[in-house]
Amino acid sequence: MPDTAQKKESDLVAVRQIADMAWASLRGKLAESETPESLALLDKAYHTALEAHGLTPRQSGEPYILHPIAVAEILYELGLDAPALAAALLHDVVEDTELTIAGIEKNFSKEIALLVGGVTKLGKVQLSTQEEQQAENIRKMLIAMSADIRVILIKLADRLHNMRTLQYKNEDSQRRIARETLDIYAPIAHRLGVRWTKEELEDLSLRFMDPHAYEEARQSMEVLSGERREFLEETQQKILACVRPLCPDAEVSGRIKSVHGIYRKMFLQHKTFGEIFDVFAVRILVNTKEECYNALGLIHESFTAIPGRLKDYISMPKPNGYQSLHTVVLVRKSGADGIPFEVQIRTKTMHQMAEYGVAAHWKYKLQYKGKSVLDKQLDWLRKLVDSQKEGEEPEDLVQTLKSDFVPEEVYIFTPKGDIINMPQGATVIDFAYAIHSGVGERMIGAKVDGRIVPLETELKTGEIVSVMTSAPPGKGPSRDWLSIAKTSSARAKIRAWFKREMREENVQRGKSELESELHRNRIFFAEEDFPEVLQNAAKRHRFENINDFYAAIGYGGISVYRMLSYFKEEESKLRQKREQPLDSLEITDTKKRAHSKEGVIVEGLDDVLVKFAHCCSPIPGDRIIGFITRGHGVSIHTQGCTNASAERRAEEPGRWLTAYWDTDANERFEVALLIEYHDRIGILSDVSTLCANMHIPISDFSSRHAKDGVRSFTLSIVVNGAEQFARLQTRIRDIKGVVKIVRFQE
Ligand code: MN
Repeated sequence: MPDTAQKKESDLVAVRQIADMAWASLRGKLAESETPESLALLDKAYHTALEAHGLTPRQSGEPYILHPIAVAEILYELGLDAPALAAALLHDVVEDTELTIAGIEKNFSKEIALLVGGVTKLGKVQLSTQEEQQAENIRKMLIAMSADIRVILIKLADRLHNMRTLQYKNEDSQRRIARETLDIYAPIAHRLGVRWTKEELEDLSLRFMDPHAYEEARQSMEVLSGERREFLEETQQKILACVRPLCPDAEVSGRIKSVHGIYRKMFLQHKTFGEIFDVFAVRILVNTKEECYNALGLIHESFTAIPGRLKDYISMPKPNGYQSLHTVVLVRKSGADGIPFEVQIRTKTMHQMAEYGVAAHWKYKLQYKGKSVLDKQLDWLRKLVDSQKEGEEPEDLVQTLKSDFVPEEVYIFTPKGDIINMPQGATVIDFAYAIHSGVGERMIGAKVDGRIVPLETELKTGEIVSVMTSAPPGKGPSRDWLSIAKTSSARAKIRAWFKREMREENVQRGKSELESELHRNRIFFAEEDFPEVLQNAAKRHRFENINDFYAAIGYGGISVYRMLSYFKEEESKLRQKREQPLDSLEITDTKKRAHSKEGVIVEGLDDVLVKFAHCCSPIPGDRIIGFITRGHGVSIHTQGCTNASAERRAEEPGRWLTAYWDTDANERFEVALLIEYHDRIGILSDVSTLCANMHIPISDFSSRHAKDGVRSFTLSIVVNGAEQFARLQTRIRDIKGVVKIVRFQE
């Protein structure tokens, strides 16, 4: 029998062989661009990582060292410098082996140690779906990024390789990691402008989160590109011939939309595949900005342009620095009607920026309006970090990060002709604050195209907006502006003003707001308990004293509403301590009726907090019954719900109450459906088109696995009552292939 030490030695030899091969292939590419010194550094980093990871396997069974090599390879493709590649090779050694940051600093350099340290710190915290936790992690990334943006590029490459090898994880982890990638990493890649990384992250996430929809989108695309290949090439040639006279060096290529991009339009914007204009685009690369506009002119002369589809991102770049002209023209197919085609025109430099974003700084040493690309990219980052300091709500941060995914922006002109770009839906208030917080604070009104408008007016592209202000210092914003403003930066500035100017008033206001909200929700504390509960709540939000905490509530920096669950929990903990058996709700008189704002009447109560049970999600028209919960008011079940069975009711008869719908209420209700069907391409879009035609919004969608040839998916929709729901059900049943519809129970 071979002795274990000997076995280990021979295993190590095998690992080294595999690793050396992988390294040699990457090293071959590096040798073309790196200096001998850099190559020596990278060799050393590789050998250090190899020895440190040793025999450790990845979940796939491969030697661990192949992962850092793959991460370094991704960064090589992005064009990063040697220290970043060395750090990529070493990125997991501190976390997983005995090497330390100090050791790396000693053996390599301070720069590399800082990079590895940055990546290690980001890895420490497990991201979870909890919003606050998520925001905390994003905050960490922002700080790491503003220190050295290469840290986040290494992290993105790390995540990309983990996504490429996600099939080796179990299903739960796959979904969790994919969701996190879509929520956090892809938006960051997008904000940094690293297009291919972003698209691959999105496609891979979709593949694991919703394999069925992924396949459907991918197949529709494959079929279409097969059918249109020749036409596509013909069109490229026609366009090239058309622009040649004024742009002799023009290069033309075709671009196919990413699977996730198709998915977004099909499932989130409810378009059928045929309605998506830009599945294929023709891209023209020219030398100068003038040539871009010349090419555009030539194309509009030779083809029919679709009005309203021209976008000039050259004079108005996207926030992540993207520049290009986009237009949609009709291209005739012999005899047939014109087919709409998106044409993108940009210079070669703009193209490098579009593909590599912030990484173009290393790869092409790009400049942008006299600043390095890096500085330009970091502008939004600094803004984001600043708005954090002004007391943003965590969910605002997640929103801000994703906000660029809202497809359209509007471009507004100042009276002097400067262009300010704002997210769609932005109001006059957002505009005033975007110019300067001083302008916002002194605003007394605004004119759009010369006419005085209300402050909640939503702005449209091309409008000229002038803000009317009072003499300084002005009377400041009003509190209802907080609910009118759409951008988180305007809201943060308004809150900052209240925080600064109105300390005393804020404390009083916060105190009474908290007290009345607790009262309204029937959360009661004994007098001797309250100070401690309050102190803990303040600590949770990182406030040293209670007045600061009150003040923050007062100016709207933290929301009482979102703290209610905390107070409820504390209350029930304290109550359990005292062994008080039931909820504080008291049935006073059975003739009393409480109309809740949810549109339900509960008999026997004066005032009531009503919630719809998740087990059966009642909608108007259902027969319902109420149940007094411990500390959460009354929950409403359908009478048929298993949690409201006759036995259950007999167990605690005192807690069940008669309830029925208040028919005047104009409410909308979320219902989940499980739909089983025989597989057929297009069925998912049939269902989503049907919902769109009936004006029923889809709030969630996920497909499930096939069982015995029958597939299924779940759909959450928002209906205005049982009647509309019944109509929808009948029409879904009529769709070819649908086998069964079940109101979904979780
Ligand atoms: Mn890693």
